[in-house]
Amino acid sequence: MKNIYGVKRGMLEAYFLDINEKKFKALQVFEWLYQKKNNNVSDWSNIKKEVRLRILEDYSFEMPKIVKKEKDELTHKYLFELFDKNYIEAVVMFHDYGISVCVSSQVGCNMGCAFCESGRLKKVRNLETFEMVSQILLIEEEINKRVSSVVIMGIGEPLDNFDHVMDFINIINDAKGLQLGIRHITLSTSGLVPKIQELKKRDIQINLAVSLHAPNDEIRNRLMKVNKVYSISQLISAIKDYIEYTNRRVTIEYVMLKGINDSEENALELANLLKGMNIYVNLIPYNETNHLEFKKSDAESIRKFGEVLKKNGLNVTIRKEFGSKISAACGQLRSKEVE
Ligand code: SAH
Ligand code: SF4
Repeated sequence: MKNIYGVKRGMLEAYFLDINEKKFKALQVFEWLYQKKNNNVSDWSNIKKEVRLRILEDYSFEMPKIVKKEKDELTHKYLFELFDKNYIEAVVMFHDYGISVCVSSQVGCNMGCAFCESGRLKKVRNLETFEMVSQILLIEEEINKRVSSVVIMGIGEPLDNFDHVMDFINIINDAKGLQLGIRHITLSTSGLVPKIQELKKRDIQINLAVSLHAPNDEIRNRLMKVNKVYSISQLISAIKDYIEYTNRRVTIEYVMLKGINDSEENALELANLLKGMNIYVNLIPYNETNHLEFKKSDAESIRKFGEVLKKNGLNVTIRKEFGSKISAACGQLRSKEVE
């Protein structure tokens, strides 16, 4: 049975037409689910009883469960149990400009990046659309506040779960759904070139972030297996294409690993690689994990690295560290639970 939280409004319209109802019923259902946040179908007074019964026969309303929470002042982290007893996690961050949620897109991840906790646990399966939508709904319920932005940067490679992630974006962006502005939705990818090309053609105005993490193939090969399939030059040309086509600025993520990719020479090489592109670079302090061979760069190296990029004309931000105390780095809570 299809879960209602994974159904786009357009599909629901088709469903109502199919059962000889008016298509605007879909809009009413969306209002109940996402605005009034009431999934008790017997309360849906503007929908006829026989139709309500039919909906209950055709759709499931169940959601995953929050089974564990870790909190500090600015960050909450939630572990969700799925129906098949798999675990995923989502992180809420309270910023001065609003509340953002970092959602997972898969159970585990097959990309196997050397420094990443999520990649230690191989992909078990893709998340269903409703499992992504539920992360946001359950968190909004839990904190009793509206979320203002969503980043798809939790466990998993979102472009390896392309269709469900696209449906998820559609539902949360829907004017009758969760109403998240399309520019408040960020998707982060390790660099699956053909999928970046596919995403480009969709021409949706989300923010694309690409995990580059290295200025050359030698370093990137060591950190990210995906680089052996799509090299830096292929990736950069896909990003250039994407920028040109969508007219959107792309974020380049660069996790700062001590002694590995954080020298001034690395910064210069990176600046050369990215020169002239409509991007900005987000330097990410590494959140130390069980991968003991990786340490975070010290604050001074990060600052210097950023200075070199700026001197060479790039826009740079240094990511504020959120939740390092509560193992908020992607995959940490789940890997503790699974181990
Ligand atoms: N799979 C996608 C999205 C999830 S990972 C991707 O790789 O882009 C989100 C970001 O967190 C990536 O840039 C990833 O490299 C980074 N990351 C993973 N582990 C980290 C850690 N321990 N500390 C800091 N950043 C980390
Ligand atoms: Fe997967 Fe992203 Fe972690 Fe790499 S960094 S293993 S792509 S979740």
